[in-house]
Order: sequence, then structure tokens, then C-alpha cells
Amino acid sequence: MSWRKLEKEWCLQTVAQLVEELLAELPGNALNSSKRYKYIAERLKKVAGRSVWVIAQHIGRSKFEPLGHELGFGANDKLPPITIELKSGEKIILNGRIDRIDTMKTGEGTYVRIIDYKSGSKKFKLSDVYHGLQIQLITYLDALWEKGVGDIEGPVIPAGMLYFKLDDPMIRGSRESDTEKIEKEIMKQLKMKGLVLSNVELIKNMDELIDGDSDIIPARINKDQTLGRSSAASLEQFEQLRRHVKSILTKLGEEIIDGSISITPYKKNKAIPCSYCNYMSICQFDTRLKGNKYRSLQDKKDNEVWEMLGADSGQGGDK
Ligand code: SF4
Repeated sequence: MSWRKLEKEWCLQTVAQLVEELLAELPGNALNSSKRYKYIAERLKKVAGRSVWVIAQHIGRSKFEPLGHELGFGANDKLPPITIELKSGEKIILNGRIDRIDTMKTGEGTYVRIIDYKSGSKKFKLSDVYHGLQIQLITYLDALWEKGVGDIEGPVIPAGMLYFKLDDPMIRGSRESDTEKIEKEIMKQLKMKGLVLSNVELIKNMDELIDGDSDIIPARINKDQTLGRSSAASLEQFEQLRRHVKSILTKLGEEIIDGSISITPYKKNKAIPCSYCNYMSICQFDTRLKGNKYRSLQDKKDNEVWEMLGADSGQGGDK
């Protein structure tokens, strides 16, 4: 089926039916056992149905076509694994899965963008990419950029890396708010976050209805057809980011091989990784113990990150 032909009612009904069927297969029909679980099951249907409908609209108003969903890369997968070569000659092999890859063929090559589905609100922060805290998307993009994907002809050109939030948001408003207005507001709330290539024509191909701020991608086109306030990067900047993240992965790989097991969690503002970590009882990190300290990271503005990355590449590439 083509995403471009899907209709809202069909999406909502079909997805709800599929969710019902899948839930019925759960042992003990768990999500039917109490009012609370029934509510969760209903919510699941709404979120999944809404998400499918919004994805259909995103694809419907762009020239990009999904090349594949849940594409694995690894030894036995469709895409080859990501290989990081260490100075010692050893290799780190990374496996994983990309939620969705979209492509658009042009005379210059094939533009590729990566979409990652998130159930929570995932903000894209360039500063976090710089610090090595958000390196998944650029690593995937790098792998496709370098090795291509499937039978894509010609060079691969990165078009973007984006997070799509799976949700069915509640919209505040009066009873009189019309459906069209509510739908537009939902679209805005489910706008993808991330980084796109700073190319006005390409952005128009990602959102053919763009008028000022896009409702679906983090980009704006001004009245004079220049790029407005957007989360965008030039090809050279994508290149700098990819090199930087590769150097982080190489360094981490070398530290693993060298047997480095120092306990140095980061702290950025009030955020620490320990809050969600299952290994607390094993590592026993405790700032009251001598030598147990956080590695303090500072948030940086986007322009500062680009300046630092530019300075790094000016010094001859990988750190
Ligand atoms: S709990 Fe321990 S292992 Fe987990 S992030 Fe914190 S320091 Fe690292």
C-alpha cells in the first residue's frame, strides 16, 4: 500500500484493530484485566493510529519515499554492520536497527534522511551530539553516507536526521475550535525534531506545503525564499559532525579494548545518566566516596558547537 493513499478513518480503524489483535495474544490478556489496563489499551490504539495518520501526512506532503522500515544493519542484516577501525588495527563492529530510511533521487545523487520513532519527547541538541550523548542518528547516517543502501545509484547525500514522536496530543482550545484548526495544531505538536540539510529546494521537497515555519520539519523559509530560523546544517557541517562522532566512537572503542572501566558519569545541568541506569547496585557510584566525581559537561549553543567543529577540522581532521 502507498502511504500517500491512506485516509484518516482507515488509519485509525485499522490500527485499532491490529492493536486489539496483538493485545489478545498477550499472556492472560493482561491489558483487558482492569479498568486501568483497558484505559492503557485504548490510549495505545489512539497513539498508534494517530501516529500512522501523521506519518502518512508527512510522507504525503514530501517528495521523499520510505526505502524501508526497521532496517537492521549487522552481519546477517540487509545493511552491513558499522565498522570502526581502531589505531591498533582492531575493529569494533556495531549492529542496530534504523526505524525508517527515506530517499529522494535527483540528478546529483540520492538524498537520504533517517527517521527515528520515539515514544517520549526527544529533543535534538547539537550540544549533546558534540558531547557524545546523542550519537545514534549521525552514526546511522554516516553508515549510509559511506556505504550506501540497497541498490541506490550514485552518491548518497545526507538530507537529515529526525526524531518523530509517537503520540496523540491533547489540544487546548474552546469547544468552537474547528476540526481543521485542531488537526493543524496536532501536526505542529508532532513536528519532527532534528537536523536537516540547509538547502531551500531540498526543504521544499521535504515539505511541499511549507509557508514560513514548516509544520512537519524543523525548518523555516522566509518570504524572500531564503532559509529562516531552522535546525539546519550545510553539507560541510554534516561532514564535520560525522567526523567528530566517529572520533568519539573510536576513542570509546580504544578505551574498551584498553580495559578502561573508570566510573565517570557525566553531569549536565541537573541531568545524570545514573537516574535511568540498571547498574547502580554493581558500580556503586556514590559521590560521598573519595574519588567518585561526575564529569561535568556544559550545554553549548549551536553556533559555539559549529565553531568548535570548524576549528577541529581546520586542525587536520579527527581528534
Ligand atoms: S549508575 Fe553507575 S554505571 Fe550507571 S551511569 Fe551511573 S555511574 Fe555509570
